[in-house]
Amino acid sequence: EALVTIQDVDMRYGGPQGLLAVEGLSLEVATGEFAAVVGPSGCGKSTLMKLVTGLYIPQEGAVTVAGARVTKPVNIVGMAFQNPTMLPWRTTLDNILLPLEVVDRHRHRLRRHKAEYVEKAERLLETVGLKGFGQKYPWQLSGGMQQRANLCRALIHEPDLLMLDEPFGALDSFTREELWCVIRDLHAAQGVTIVLVTHDLREAVFLADRIFVMSARPGRIIKNQTVPFARPRD
Ligand code: ADP
Ligand code: ADP
Repeated sequence: EALVTIQDVDMRYGGPQGLLAVEGLSLEVATGEFAAVVGPSGCGKSTLMKLVTGLYIPQEGAVTVAGARVTKPVNIVGMAFQNPTMLPWRTTLDNILLPLEVVDRHRHRLRRHKAEYVEKAERLLETVGLKGFGQKYPWQLSGGMQQRANLCRALIHEPDLLMLDEPFGALDSFTREELWCVIRDLHAAQGVTIVLVTHDLREAVFLADRIFVMSARPGRIIKNQTVPFARPRD
């Protein structure tokens, strides 16, 4: 059954005469699926991510997540975007805890059981190869390290849906493939639904169960393909 549904969506930036970024965009991502979205630069991949997370509301069509029409930012979603956006006055650890402060069910627990969440954040940091970096400030980390910390922040509140927009962009190829394995294991172990935007087809094939290909702008899905062969799982 579908966790994410995009149905005949048009998204135009800058008013009625503005630029049409996506047109007639439709797709469905099933619960537990790992979907990748690929397509040329400027075709509307980031727009698609922002539509699903409720950062943008389309002029036409409907976006549904977990059966509810998206009309505002959705808090069951973890997001990691291309450019890490961490608050410079907070340590890396406190940045990772941020999503907990906006989700009611966690906010109350966070106040009373902070140590538990700090421990969890530290475990996540270790998973992405940043053990011991929690007390550093984001500006003390390299671009790639910030991207890895960003991934921890997307995961701290155990979202049902993880939206990843080129989250491995600034990584050297060695670290990138290490993180692919982290993400793949996470998907296998926790069954979290993942939508990954990438322009790296190899990355899409390595990670995803299903690949959506978008046309050039205005973007829509021109191919929807399950990955036809078994990938190594260890
Ligand atoms: P992709 O992620 O595939 O590179 P985007 O979704 O970022 O594509 O952009 C799709 C199109 O919409 C591009 O032509 C881009 O310049 C334009 N666009 C994206 N965001 C905005 C915005 N906030 N305002 C105006 N135009 C935008
Ligand atoms: P990345 O591939 O993550 O962008 P760099 O090539 O910039 O990383 O850095 C390589 C390694 O140097 C990092 O994995 C990390 O171990 C170390 N490093 C980089 N910046 C810092 C820093 N500010 N403090 C401590 N170690 C750092």
